[in-house]
Amino acid sequence: MTAPRVTGKTQLVGLFGWPVEHTLSPPMHNAAFADRGLDWLYVPLPTPPERLADAVRGVAAAGFRGFNVTIPHKEAVMAHLDEITPEARAIGAVNTVVVTQGRLTGHNTDVDGFVMPTTTEAHVDLGGKVAALIGAGGAARAIASGCLRMGVGRLVLTDIDAPKAEALRGDLEPLRGDARIEVLPAGSDALCEAVGTAALVANATPVGMHGPDDSPIDVAWLPEGVVVFEAIYTQPRTALMRAAEERGGKAIHGLRMLLHQGVRAFALWTGMEPDVGLMERALEEARR
Ligand code: NAP
Repeated sequence: MTAPRVTGKTQLVGLFGWPVEHTLSPPMHNAAFADRGLDWLYVPLPTPPERLADAVRGVAAAGFRGFNVTIPHKEAVMAHLDEITPEARAIGAVNTVVVTQGRLTGHNTDVDGFVMPTTTEAHVDLGGKVAALIGAGGAARAIASGCLRMGVGRLVLTDIDAPKAEALRGDLEPLRGDARIEVLPAGSDALCEAVGTAALVANATPVGMHGPDDSPIDVAWLPEGVVVFEAIYTQPRTALMRAAEERGGKAIHGLRMLLHQGVRAFALWTGMEPDVGLMERALEEARR
């Protein structure tokens, strides 16, 4: 193993989470920094919730250029920032912070993690079409915002915890534009009907993470040619992904989201575009 090259001028970024030992982000970003000839280093910053405020102030004071934020800090970190993009504010979560002359600006690059592979890799045009989003937690908030950014016509939200989906609908109001946003009960006939008309169905629940045949909706509801966006990245192929492909549609794997949120974060911190293929290979290698 070669030692990382750290100099007196090395610029630091990191990841706040609790725990963080399973993160795939350090090898992905450090490979991209080295590839672009940048003397930068990405480090894990394991921080318990009660120390988050001190830790955020500490890294800003120590000259860090920015950081990522993961579970359980994505909402709580917002209270410690100077600025938050309107999109991240509406989503109610920040996953990337840029530090500029001591000022902290919060972004949500999970939205790019959804939009980039959906548009540039799967070539989905959601303009005026129907999207169904299963789950209304953290990942769903970014995916819903991405659907609105892509000009979705009708966005259907569902969660086994119905008030959670209602809260998400309310929070999305500033980003809604002309889109219709509806909450439908999990497992209902109305949801089955909506999924049957959807151009895109996204799974933002953990269902499918442990059992490769588990699905948060009946896969028989999926229409021909549908695109399934799967947030889960720990399974090679979920039942929902397989069903989309069996119907002549496409399936986008959760690892694409992890990759592209990182690509956008890299660009925000450094002002440079990374080599996406190289970051992808580093991610794949770290996952093995
Ligand atoms: P979360 O905040 O817990 O949200 C999941 C939501 O789905 C919860 O509200 C949950 O309700 C609901 N739910 C569970 N089963 C359901 C079902 N059968 N039908 C409808 N709703 C259901 O979790 P999260 O952080 O958003 O993560 C969700 C998934 O996305 C996880 O697999 C995570 O690993 C993945 N993820 C991927 C990325 C990526 O970069 N690819 C990023 C973030 C998250 P209850 O709380 O009542 O169970």
